[in-house]
Amino acid sequence: MKLLITGGAGFIGSAVVRQAIRDGHAVVNVDALTYAACLDNVADAATSPDYTFEHVDIRDRAALDRVFAAHRPDAVMHLAAESHVDRSIDGPGDFVQTNVIGTFNMLEAARAYWTAQGRPEGFRFHHISTDEVFGTLGETGQFTEDTPYAPNSPYSASKAGSDHLVRAWHETYGLPVVMTNCSNNYGPYHFPEKLIPVVILKALAGEPIPVYGKGENVRDWLYVEDHADALLTVVQNGAVGRSYNIGGENEARNIDIVQTICAILDRKRPKDAAYADQITFVTDRPGHDLRYAIDPERIRTELGWRPSVTLEQGLEKTVDWYLGHEEWWRPLQARAGGRLGTKA
Ligand code: NAD
Repeated sequence: MKLLITGGAGFIGSAVVRQAIRDGHAVVNVDALTYAACLDNVADAATSPDYTFEHVDIRDRAALDRVFAAHRPDAVMHLAAESHVDRSIDGPGDFVQTNVIGTFNMLEAARAYWTAQGRPEGFRFHHISTDEVFGTLGETGQFTEDTPYAPNSPYSASKAGSDHLVRAWHETYGLPVVMTNCSNNYGPYHFPEKLIPVVILKALAGEPIPVYGKGENVRDWLYVEDHADALLTVVQNGAVGRSYNIGGENEARNIDIVQTICAILDRKRPKDAAYADQITFVTDRPGHDLRYAIDPERIRTELGWRPSVTLEQGLEKTVDWYLGHEEWWRPLQARAGGRLGTKA
């Protein structure tokens, strides 16, 4: 397939680009190169004759029309977004502009292109979203595809808005869409402002390892390369108009994740004191959802997809990757800045 992938210089998008090229697809990577982007993430894929980069902002409708006309994709995988909850608390405007208006532009540009092509049945618009649109869970239960939306942060509200637009463009205009809502990703090329890279890099620097609140928030952790595999499965085999939840089958409390990473580092980079001694509890994020968990039944039974790694295996691979790629993360640390999300 020729895939138009938005956000392909970001964390998850770049994993999709790398795997799509490995699988023999052609890729047009559309990215505005915000603070979160890094073209090094796709350096190997970029050597392929099947890879093209378009430096385009999805808020620019005319530029999107040009990209569709020039490249004539078989499918769109829409990942470009402002993605950091803490940043959405301090500055929600960019989240509405990119996640809501940008998705509207993508839908309209895709619809115009699809209509001009004679509405081919095989065309797909795959919208990539988050489980955060469902709000928070108590101690028990899991999100299914039918869980009512109840977003709690400006980020999740903007993603919920984009999900509703995608659904409506299918119901109203017949655009052949598929949708996915996934849990927290982790793995190689994760921007150094998110929990897992922060823990690894603070630990290595000998600095306090910040844990929000008491570290009791629970997430269902999904290894990014498993997620990329699931997304390529859905764009090729998902039923039109259907949404799929994607989880890692790996629920864990933040504090347990942090302890596990510290224990891995104790083995791989031993020093005099245990890394866990650096753990420091800090003021919680406002509106911090307690627990997210995904019921993965639909994607498992309908598309035969399951994650390939356990949390322990994935964390081991992730720590190894950060230990071996200082030249990647060191320059990005300056962009990440300090504590965000306190302005509420
Ligand atoms: P990221 O922040 O690492 O990357 C986002 C990419 O989008 C960057 O390359 C950035 O330059 C690009 N981008 C941002 N605004 C743009 C614009 N206006 N025009 C064009 N490009 C723009 O994000 P990520 O973690 O890779 O997330 C990708 C998608 O997956 C997002 O839609 C996010 O909501 C969703 N998601 C992420 C997670 C997670 O754990 N990271 C979980 C669930 C869902």
